[in-house]
Amino acid sequence: MIEQVRRLRTELPGPGSVALAGRRRAAVSGAVAVGNELYIDRGEGAILVDVDGNQLIDLGSGIAVASVGHAAPAVVAAVSEQAARFEHTCFMVTPYEGYVEVCEQLNRLTPGAHEKRTALFNSGAEAVENAVKVARAYTGRPAVVAFDHAYHGRTNLTMALTAKVQPYKDGFGPFAPEVYRVGMAYPYRWPTGPERCAEEAFAEFAARVHVQVGEEHVAAVVVEPIQGEGGFIVPAPGFLSMLSAWCAEHGVVFVADEVQTGFCRTGDWFASEFEGVVPDVVATAKALGGGLPLAAVTGRAEIMDAPVPGGLGGTFGGNPVSCAAALAAISMMESHDLAGAARRIGEVLTSRLCALADRFPQLGDVRGRGAMMAIELVVPDGTTRPDPALAKAVVAGCARRGVVMLACGTYGNVVRMLPPLVIEPALLEDALDVLAEALAEAT
Ligand SMILES: *Cc1c(COP(=O)(O)O)cnc(C)c1O
Repeated sequence: MIEQVRRLRTELPGPGSVALAGRRRAAVSGAVAVGNELYIDRGEGAILVDVDGNQLIDLGSGIAVASVGHAAPAVVAAVSEQAARFEHTCFMVTPYEGYVEVCEQLNRLTPGAHEKRTALFNSGAEAVENAVKVARAYTGRPAVVAFDHAYHGRTNLTMALTAKVQPYKDGFGPFAPEVYRVGMAYPYRWPTGPERCAEEAFAEFAARVHVQVGEEHVAAVVVEPIQGEGGFIVPAPGFLSMLSAWCAEHGVVFVADEVQTGFCRTGDWFASEFEGVVPDVVATAKALGGGLPLAAVTGRAEIMDAPVPGGLGGTFGGNPVSCAAALAAISMMESHDLAGAARRIGEVLTSRLCALADRFPQLGDVRGRGAMMAIELVVPDGTTRPDPALAKAVVAGCARRGVVMLACGTYGNVVRMLPPLVIEPALLEDALDVLAEALAEAT
């Protein structure tokens, strides 16, 4: 049992982490960046224990993965039990029940009552890439539309879909063709103000696609219902519904990338549900596997069955141990009502972050939903000039005090909070006290 409290035994990083950092520099590609060089030995719930025995509060969840908490007993038991039976056969060679059951659960849980089918993969990028493959096979069309500030992964096609060049695309081209980018309905930075954002952004989208691509050439529109790496941008209300209706009108597959937002994170099982949007295809990963790598594409049966038999798959996709972990995690999300937990976390985060915004003019925007909230930091000079140095200093100040946070955003000036959904209220309050201290120190 790890007590759910923050407790520092050394300065951070401690000597064990410093030694491992030296080994990392000598052994690991420098292209793999490390945010907080605190090496982890164990975890439980929302606490990570580093190699020096320091107990850290995790407000990152390994990027929205550890939603059921670290080392959740039900997940650990399911993983051990499955690993002792068999770790791998490859579903395409000799199948097993766990894969089928995860697909059944996804068909049941994703938005919409229509007939669905699912295929399993290893990573979020792989899921998004396969969603595009399916949409192209179904429509017989080449083009894909993606948005400003989008993040969809690091494979060649998903790099093309991802908006930001630094660091995700720099030097890695040429990129996949037939990807077209349009503006996102980003309320905080919309030139005419947040009220007109959804309608104007949609009008611009429709006009640009009509003139530059042609509706009849578009296979899919790929969108994050709340943008993740791009800065926790919540599209202006109505924007997603208008996109979804436009897709239906033009025979375009509406792909919701719910890799980060899915599985209770935003207070609903899937963020699309908030506006009642029913995507044709949903890509999931991150929290799905309860901490193990697992990803999925779930969609309308006729779309998912469009590729030729054998057209989708992969050696490790839907690994049995990952499937066992996913089934345990999904069961825990239901029995513990983790969507409700995310909404309660969202209430605490919203009120505490808004109080910080009253105190610090550098907080240009507080946004997000449920347990996916962020602050956008700006230079307080009457403009909305991004302040990435401040975001970096705040994340570092939190890390020194034993709270793991992540920065994100197109301009690198957003500090995001993604706590495990099982975090205890007192621990969350403590982490937010630390955030206030770090902000006071850095401003
Ligand atoms: C993380 C993420 C991905 C990529 O997932 P990986 O598992 O890192 O490949 C894709 N889309 C979104 C929205 C993400 O947050």
